[in-house]
Formats: sequence, structure tokens, C-alpha cells
Amino acid sequence: MEFPQSVKDEVKRRSGGKCECKRKSCKHNGRCRSKATEFHHKTSAKAGGSNTLSNCEHLCKPCHENTRSYGSH
Ligand SMILES: [Zn+2]
Ligand SMILES: [Zn+2]
Repeated sequence: MEFPQSVKDEVKRRSGGKCECKRKSCKHNGRCRSKATEFHHKTSAKAGGSNTLSNCEHLCKPCHENTRSYGSH
């Protein structure tokens, strides 16, 4: 399931185009701030996550690949 364009636009505004990842499992300290190109479901659609702003995270590719649910939505 894809996020609607309206949600993507709002997430882009929120992130400023920078990766929002704060995962400790990544190599960056604190927030990543690389150029964000991917939209990630915090809770995967399969697990009942919705395509809403609060469930969307703007991530760079390496961080997205580092999420457990990568490729499952
Ligand atoms: Zn990142
Ligand atoms: Zn990260």
C-alpha cells in the first residue's frame, strides 16, 4: 500500500527533505539528516498500519533498508 500524495507532501514539509530516522541500530548519532528519498510505514500495512501522516516516516535509502519491515509493504 502506498501513501497518498497528500500525505507524502505533508511528510516532506515536516522532514524538510531530510531523513527522520533516529534508530539506534543505524550508524548515525541522533537524527540521520541525510537526503530523504523514501517513505516508510512505521507500522507496516500488513501489521495494520495506516497510510496516514502519523504512520509515515521520511527516510534515506540506507535507513529504509535498515528497517525490519523493508520490502514487506
Ligand atoms: Zn537516514
Ligand atoms: Zn537511520
